[in-house]
Amino acid sequence: AVEIRGLHKSFGDLEVLKGIDFTVEPGQVVCVIGPSGSGKSTLLRCVNLLEQPTAGQVFVDGVELTDPDVDIDAARRRIGMVFQQFNLFPHLTVLRNVTIAQQRVLRRGKREAERIAIENLERVGLADRANSYPSQLSGGQQQRVAIARALAMDPALMLFDEPTSALDPELVGDVLTVMRKLAEDGMTMLVVTHEMGFAREVADRVVFMDGGVIVEDGPPEQVIGAPRQERTRTFLRRVL
Ligand code: ATP
Ligand code: MG
Repeated sequence: AVEIRGLHKSFGDLEVLKGIDFTVEPGQVVCVIGPSGSGKSTLLRCVNLLEQPTAGQVFVDGVELTDPDVDIDAARRRIGMVFQQFNLFPHLTVLRNVTIAQQRVLRRGKREAERIAIENLERVGLADRANSYPSQLSGGQQQRVAIARALAMDPALMLFDEPTSALDPELVGDVLTVMRKLAEDGMTMLVVTHEMGFAREVADRVVFMDGGVIVEDGPPEQVIGAPRQERTRTFLRRVL
């Protein structure tokens, strides 16, 4: 589970997160939606401490990541992150991209790392591309490799920041299918997305952010289907 309490983040004079509170229960999928600049990426980056919050607490499976005494590298190992840009190593094969952190960070042996890599490449439908280089794959395939790479680290939680926004429209569906399957497998997921269809079908809860605060938080049929706040309605009119 993820628990966020009273989270604030400022960059200099600019307060980007103004007190964020919410929980993602184990096995839940929470989608975060909201206009550009509302603080969605900053929120995700605070959850795995890529950004240091100005105030507030982040707990992942009961461990307080914001505790100054916590082993942040150990805690962060339990969190997988998938970005808009896939950030694969271009000079390494798909297989090596998925084994390298397993070997270096988790200290798995080569054979075990390769076995786990193939398992996870099978999950995203790309085991047959293990020996390809990223440049030989489509954007959607590269993003699925990035998902397999994160999964190979046995994360307790997966963070996705607009994983399909950089893709050509015809490649979006395959990535969403992989994410939908992960959700069905019970992965705990926090997903920033503009894909309202995905949020509506897959999310247990949808969080609408605007101006660094949570405006609305509830099941998709409420937040997307029957929003209570004018700000949510205005946003949805623009994106739907
Ligand atoms: P988008 O939908 O465009 O991705 P977002 O909701 O993810 O937007 P953030 O990227 O979290 O928004 O940015 C929120 C605000 O914080 C913006 O005004 C942005 O300029 C500012 N910001 C983000 N990162 C930094 C930084 N490292 N330094 C200064 N300002 C930043
Ligand atoms: Mg963003």
